[in-house]
Amino acid sequence: MPPTPAKFDLPKLKLSPRGAARLKSGHVWVYRSDLLSADGIPPGSLVAVSDPRGKPLGTALYSSSSQIAIRLISREPVADFPGLIRRRIADAIAYREQVVRDTNGYRVIFSEADFLPGLIVDLYNDILTLQILTQAMDANLVRETVISHLKGLLNPAAIAERVDPRVRELETLPPRSSGLLAGDKSSTTFTMNAVEFHYDASEGQKTGAFLDQRENYAAAVQYAHGEALDVFCYQGGFALHLAPRCSQVTGVDSSRPALEVADQNAVLNRKLLGGKEIEWIEANAFDLLKDYAAGGRRYDTIVLDPPAFAKSKRDLDSALRGYKELNLRALKMLRSGGILVTCSCSYHVSQSRFLEMLAEAGNDAHRNLRVIEIRGQAKDHPILPNVPETAYLKCIIACVSN
Ligand code: SAH
Repeated sequence: MPPTPAKFDLPKLKLSPRGAARLKSGHVWVYRSDLLSADGIPPGSLVAVSDPRGKPLGTALYSSSSQIAIRLISREPVADFPGLIRRRIADAIAYREQVVRDTNGYRVIFSEADFLPGLIVDLYNDILTLQILTQAMDANLVRETVISHLKGLLNPAAIAERVDPRVRELETLPPRSSGLLAGDKSSTTFTMNAVEFHYDASEGQKTGAFLDQRENYAAAVQYAHGEALDVFCYQGGFALHLAPRCSQVTGVDSSRPALEVADQNAVLNRKLLGGKEIEWIEANAFDLLKDYAAGGRRYDTIVLDPPAFAKSKRDLDSALRGYKELNLRALKMLRSGGILVTCSCSYHVSQSRFLEMLAEAGNDAHRNLRVIEIRGQAKDHPILPNVPETAYLKCIIACVSN
């Protein structure tokens, strides 16, 4: 990245009529097949994009390798890129001050949804984590701008980088290892809705907490009761929230390291749990639900929060079959008056398809369903109306009866 290029120095990139129409409609991505020519444009450049006739459409980040070749960063010419980044970071933080409640763990910057494509920043109490997903955001000048501005505004004890090697490979970026970029603290505890969680930036697993579920935890607590089963529990997000309201809670996950942290989290919340023990089971959720349903087990509250089954449009049918199998078994196991909290984080499964799947599962299970709440992601994961891909999480809370 050259230092602060003047606006007239930016490489120019013309889009096909379809690419131009996409930006005019408000979207911010243009696919490689919609570039008229990108010859000689250096990877990760800031580019001035225009329609086929040369009419300016704004300023974008260019990737030489991703299928998403253009990510618009401004509808205006950009003369001072670091200045724009600083302004966007301050704006993202100000937005969180308006909408984030009851937590000191939240997403501070969410890529396109905060008009900073390819940059994700999470705060876990006093540790900031940073993830870089595009060539342009990986440039040294950008990194330095981001880090110094975040330090200045949030004053964290440490900043850690979480590297996804697969993303770096796809973006043809040189390998990098995860680690601390500032400060010397790599673990901490943070609080969501008065429940405490461990966070360790140096752990092998790259995922932090599922901050996008934070408001759904609080919603689920309102209806949870009796014997509860948290399926795909990870480090216990739902289970720990439900425990004070339920007589008994079991969490299920296939990852032993996740369950070990879940157990440590239970210890951390000993007071809140009032001596209640949560049972953690390491198992494949599909097998366990099949066995439990066949064995006649019954619950009053079941949470289903599987990983994204549909990573692309191609997987949609098999994903829906997977969701249906899980939901069908859960519905069979719920007592009358029981609560189902069912989630999908696959963008490709729309809210209406997800609801359809749930309706079919209800029919097949011969259970009546009343939908109590149709929810999405927490507000620190903003949704842009012009960029449908920013709305990915579904969380439906329903009451089951006979
Ligand atoms: N509910 C969690 C997030 C779940 S993420 C929270 O609120 O924090 C999805 C989880 O599913 C991961 O922890 C992963 O280890 C687990 N998982 C993936 N496949 C699984 C399977 N077949 N059986 C059980 N767990 C699985």
